[in-house]
Amino acid sequence: MERTFAIIKPDAVTAARAGAILSRIEQAGFRVVAMRLQHLTRAQAEGFYAVHAARPFFSSLTDFMSSGPCVLLALEAPDAIKRWRALMGATDPAKADAGTLRKDFGQSIEFNATHGSDAPETAAFELGYFFRGLELR
Ligand code: GDP
Repeated sequence: MERTFAIIKPDAVTAARAGAILSRIEQAGFRVVAMRLQHLTRAQAEGFYAVHAARPFFSSLTDFMSSGPCVLLALEAPDAIKRWRALMGATDPAKADAGTLRKDFGQSIEFNATHGSDAPETAAFELGYFFRGLELR
């Protein structure tokens, strides 16, 4: 078993698609270990995306991520990190495969509905950034 960190981003929550995405998560066999609705502050979004601080889209991305509530998730499954990235699809919804969440719910390379950790080290950092140990049982 492996755990990963996922976000249903503000574009999808605001469009009332969080339930549909959660349903797809459950159908795909992930166990929801922890879940919380949270409207991130700008500073919380900047801390989360600190690895992207030098990217040209950092300011726009952190604006977006603090523009409305997110659904924060800890997900568990065998090979969860890779499987969640596969279910999300490519960063740019226009390039994402049919049947992926970003294809079905994303609007643009920035407003792309979901986030997922890309490696065990980032999953550990991201799970710990948003959830306390007691929540991750
Ligand atoms: P991910 O791991 O697939 O989420 O992609 P990245 O780690 O490369 O980027 C983080 C997030 O920044 C993406 O999910 C998008 O919301 C946003 N993003 C990535 N690339 C771009 C870009 O070229 N332009 C803009 N405006 N946003 C981007």
